[in-house]
Order: sequence, then C-alpha cells, then structure tokens
Amino acid sequence: MARARKSLVVLTGAGVSADSGVQTFRGGGGLWEGHRVEDVATPLAWARDPRLVWRFYQLRRRALRSVEPNAAHRALAQLERELAARGVPFLLVTQNVDDLHDRAGSSVLHMHGELVQLRCERCGAKVRELEHLEPEEYVPCAACGHARVRPDIVWFGELPYFMDEIERALLGCTHFVSIGTSGVVYPAAGFLSLARHAGARTWVNSLEAPENLDPRDEFRAGRAIDVVPALVDELLREL
Ligand SMILES: [Zn+2]
Repeated sequence: MARARKSLVVLTGAGVSADSGVQTFRGGGGLWEGHRVEDVATPLAWARDPRLVWRFYQLRRRALRSVEPNAAHRALAQLERELAARGVPFLLVTQNVDDLHDRAGSSVLHMHGELVQLRCERCGAKVRELEHLEPEEYVPCAACGHARVRPDIVWFGELPYFMDEIERALLGCTHFVSIGTSGVVYPAAGFLSLARHAGARTWVNSLEAPENLDPRDEFRAGRAIDVVPALVDELLREL
C-alpha cells in the first residue's frame, strides 16, 4: 500500500521572535508597553481613541526597523527551500505581526495580520509600507481619500485570516510543528490537536510546556534559536 504523501505545517508564535528583541504583551503582566490590550488592540479602542491606537502601532511599526531575523527564522526559511526542491507541501503560519519570517525569506501566512500592512476600513484598500512612521500623523487612503487607514492587524474580537486554508492544510498534514506559542490563544491553540487527530506526528518547542501539550507530542524545551535549527535537520531527515 502506498504511504500517505508527506506534508508539513509549522505554526510560530511570539517565542520565535523573542530572541530578535520583538516586544510581546504577554511578557509584561498583561500590559503591552504600559497599555491594556483592550485599550489598544480591539475595534472598540480604535473607534473610541484612534489617536492612542494609531500611536501605539506606529511605534511598533517603527520598531521593526531595529530588529533582525534570528537563527530560528533562517532555519525555517531553509526548510521551506529544501522541501520545495523535494516537492513536499509545506505551510508556514504565524501568529506574529512582525515581518521577520518574510525578511528571512519565508512565504508565510500572517493569521493575525501584519504591522507592515495598512488597511482602509472604508474601501478595504491595503497598502504595504514602512515609510510613514510619525506617531501623531494618520495615513490617508490613497484609493478613496478616507482620512485614516488602520493597521491591518487582527484585533481581539475579530476573525483571524486564512482559516479555511490553514484548516485544510492541518487536516491533510502528516507532520506538524508548533514553535514558541503559549497554547492558550484560540483558534491557533487548537491547531496542535487538530493535526494530531488528523494523524500527524507532532512536535512542540517552547520555553515551558504549553497548556495544550499532549503526551503524544514530542516536546523540545528551550529557546527557539537553540532548538529550531536542530529540529529542522530532524524534519529534513523525516520528510
Ligand atoms: Zn479607502
């Protein structure tokens, strides 16, 4: 009997970017540079105080200029190139809104949006740019003239992007890896069990065992920069 065709899905979270110096709100006792999530990362916050929300995201957009991809990002980009050469389907999904996977050379689905992208809430036009970074100046929509575009970030209370495509890949994959996620933010926290139930072999890397870890998962404790390069070598032997 022919073996099932192999394919891999990788999910990354804040832990993969932590060693690049990207700030995450979970590290700050529920605060994000002094702000509560509900004050800067919800549609209601944007409606109530767009200046505060815009300033917050402009500072985070600006901060992208001072961070670089690390060894974990680079190893995953290398994995993608090797698997493409072998014709093995591969999907990289990230919860991160930074552009470090992209800059390392990966094709990645940003399920929670991207800091480099802005979106007009009136006409839907999107623009990718890191040029207008003044915290106090809105960026108008070039397509319809609306006074201000919003960050193309999936805020709390909004639906993550690419869910159909991600679910299809998870249900068909033979190998699944979760890197640097807390295992508590849904729907991403459910990807591990979805892949496991679909029959995939599963690996998990994070500093401490995440909440959604199962005894059937192969758990590799440690920082992503230390663990991921060796894990990529192992996956390349498997796939
Ligand atoms: Zn517009």
